[in-house]
Amino acid sequence: MTIACPYRIGSGHDTHRLEPGRPLILGGIRIDHPRGLAGHSDADVVLHALTDAMLGAAGLGDIGEAYPDDDPQWANADSTRFVLETRARLSRLGWSLVNVDVTIFAQEPKLGPVKARIRKSLAGLLELDEAQVNIKAKTGERVGHIGRAEAIACQVVVLLTRPVAATSDGLSAVAAAELGDRPVAQAP
Ligand SMILES: [Zn+2]
Repeated sequence: MTIACPYRIGSGHDTHRLEPGRPLILGGIRIDHPRGLAGHSDADVVLHALTDAMLGAAGLGDIGEAYPDDDPQWANADSTRFVLETRARLSRLGWSLVNVDVTIFAQEPKLGPVKARIRKSLAGLLELDEAQVNIKAKTGERVGHIGRAEAIACQVVVLLTRPVAATSDGLSAVAAAELGDRPVAQAP
């Protein structure tokens, strides 16, 4: 049964190991640091959690299904592509983002000086006002894999909205679009 609600919430979480010799890229921003995140793609933990949150809100599965990490085409991929493609996919389904709340967990580097740049970057990728994007940074209090600076993690919550069709068959049109990942306008 499709519920006639114009909002959907989604959460995403990701963790990547810090390793020497890798660039550190968070939210599409290159950050000067002796270690970077390891992964199949560019390992941008912020954009991966964001992509997962958007997919989750729209009921479209997860980033691993959309971009398998054993697929060579995603080796060292620029993760901005995952966000842009997912945003376009949501848009085809009629979804708009209301707001994005990001929490980055990193013992190092200190993220205070770069939070504003990450916010601007995400707002640009998502075509939102910066007021719709919030970036929080937490340390690991020197406990666990985050606190020992072995990894950086990120948690993202997004809220989506789309108009609930006023016509009597509106809900079935929305449901058909979701099932087929097709534009609402082309649904029966
Ligand atoms: Zn990831």
